[in-house]
Amino acid sequence: MNTQVRISAQTSVVGVIGDPVRHSLSPVIHNAGFRSLGVDWVYVAFEVAAGKTADSLSALRTLHLRGLSVTMPHKTEMATLVDRSSPSAIALRSVNTVEVASDGALVGHSTDGEGLLTNLRSHGVHTENLSVLVIGAGGAGRSVVDALSRHGCKQVVVANRSLDGAVFAAGLAPVGSRAIALSDEPALWRATQECDLIIHATSMGMGKTGSDSVLPIPLDLLQQRHIVVDLVYHPLHTALLRVAEEKGCQIVNGLGMLVHQAALQQEIWTGHLPDIQAMLSAASQALS
Ligand code: NAP
Repeated sequence: MNTQVRISAQTSVVGVIGDPVRHSLSPVIHNAGFRSLGVDWVYVAFEVAAGKTADSLSALRTLHLRGLSVTMPHKTEMATLVDRSSPSAIALRSVNTVEVASDGALVGHSTDGEGLLTNLRSHGVHTENLSVLVIGAGGAGRSVVDALSRHGCKQVVVANRSLDGAVFAAGLAPVGSRAIALSDEPALWRATQECDLIIHATSMGMGKTGSDSVLPIPLDLLQQRHIVVDLVYHPLHTALLRVAEEKGCQIVNGLGMLVHQAALQQEIWTGHLPDIQAMLSAASQALS
């Protein structure tokens, strides 16, 4: 394994666009992945404000970047700007990965949902025939609902601040799934009674610690039998996960998903899957 970083005039550059992005662990994770592959690639973070998504694609073309990761608030707009997209990115209307294809076309993909499901399997959580509550219907939430559906879950209830967003996401889920407003407490109560797995996919709680902490759902809705997953990874141990752990639930934080979806991005860009353990240990080391 090549552990040296030697940047030269030949080095291929990829990066993440987002805002905020300075907290991002993606450079640490991706550069560990590239080292494990022994390729001459480097990954950096670009702070790109909302409304500037198209400019970032012009920059990619001008600077001959080899690809992009796309995070908040650009995923939905990116889906309208790429030359073509994978079938799931089209269905989701969300792109978290831009590939420069061999014909020069910019191709949009979404690796969030597959990244989460691969991570859940590594924690012994298999979603086939499960009833799942997904809280959030942004790019990540839609990608998760789509992946759950393709991997045979029984039913998804999507709860979102805006009901329209929840309705769109529930349309990606198996027949019998439904949408509810996050503010509708009786509907939320019914959903938590029905569901085995609860996945939090809003940006609530991101960057919040201590007295700043927020819970996406009332804590009395959580029961010991629930498996509780938080996509938020900054902080790693969110208020939701703390409460769920106190109630005896199995919990899964957002770091493993971040690593697995990054590995899938590298497979799209380079044709090879990097070493997951190398990426996970680089991320854990950066966090500690
Ligand atoms: P996004 O497309 O901007 O969607 C944001 C979501 O959060 C929407 O559902 C939005 O509801 C909801 N939301 C925002 N503020 C809210 C508030 N104050 N109250 C209630 N709901 C609120 O973002 P995204 O890409 O889906 O990312 C969502 C979260 O997942 C972020 O924290 C991100 O860091 C995390 N994430 C983690 C990973 C990972 O690998 N671990 C990967 C992707 C994303 P509306 O639709 O009503 O606006």
